Amino acid sequence: MDKCCVVAIVPGSFDPITNGHIDIIKRASKIFHKVIVGVAKNTAKKSFFDFEERFELTKQVIESLNIASISVEKVDGLLVNFAKSKGAQVIVRGLRAVSDFEYEMEMAFMNRSLAPEIEIIYFMPYIKYSFLSSTIVKDVFVNGGDVSAFVSTIVIEHMKKKFKGEK
Ligand code: ADP
Repeated sequence: MDKCCVVAIVPGSFDPITNGHIDIIKRASKIFHKVIVGVAKNTAKKSFFDFEERFELTKQVIESLNIASISVEKVDGLLVNFAKSKGAQVIVRGLRAVSDFEYEMEMAFMNRSLAPEIEIIYFMPYIKYSFLSSTIVKDVFVNGGDVSAFVSTIVIEHMKKKFKGEK
């Protein structure tokens, strides 16, 4: 591995992207030469926003950060194949609480057996984001709560339009 130019993928459903995701992505960008935020087409969870929406919204939010080394791409199919196709050596995931651990361990061992050359690295967010999830943001928002401390205004605007259309 060329240590000078390590490329990292930060994969996820981003349904929608929250400040917790951004925290992890920024941490990765401090360490790695290039960070690719990979929006997964097929997620284990049933997503609220469709794939194109999740991708476009993530792209807009990431572009608003103005960090040249971070880009957003679509991931269709196996994550490790996507990582290899991008020349990435690292997959970055976030660990919020112990509850993330079991799922992350399962996924890490599977990805390692599929592609032993790729390392999986975990970052912990600020404590204020430790209990933040896309699911909780959607729940609070639909019930009229203020989520401005947890997601970008771009996401709030999109959710307003989306939920109006849903009603
Ligand atoms: P997935 O469906 O792949 O778990 P998510 O979009 O839910 O996708 O999460 C993507 C990654 O971001 C995961 O590693 C998850 O642990 C991490 N993550 C999500 N929310 C937070 C948060 N509040 N703080 C830190 N990491 C987070």
